[in-house]
Amino acid sequence: MHETVIASSLLKIITEETAKQHKNLYVDEIHLKIGLLNCIEAQTVQGCFEILAENTRAEHAKMIIERLPLQGFCNDCQKNISITKRHFVCPLCQSGNVDWQGGNEMQITSIKVHEKKEEEKE
Ligand SMILES: [Zn+2]
Repeated sequence: MHETVIASSLLKIITEETAKQHKNLYVDEIHLKIGLLNCIEAQTVQGCFEILAENTRAEHAKMIIERLPLQGFCNDCQKNISITKRHFVCPLCQSGNVDWQGGNEMQITSIKVHEKKEEEKE
């Protein structure tokens, strides 16, 4: 997936969702969670989003991106494990004999908004 595409679809989701709630809602913060194996560059998405969001209700919104830990099952110690760095071995026994699950997720976890009053100036 390309970062520009991701940024523009995020912007679309966010602006449509907030528009549904109230016409004067402006977006302050967007919290995203991205799977550890998802190879999109957080900084690039943030940069693209900033440019695309100009003159929208999400202008000046801060994007906070967190990496989700990767879940797996170690076949050597027979345990469910999770890692937060791209070092693909079991953290308990250092085995590489692990079945990893998922890792490509991308979720919007929360959006912080504020309401702008009609009479308020920019
Ligand atoms: Zn293990």
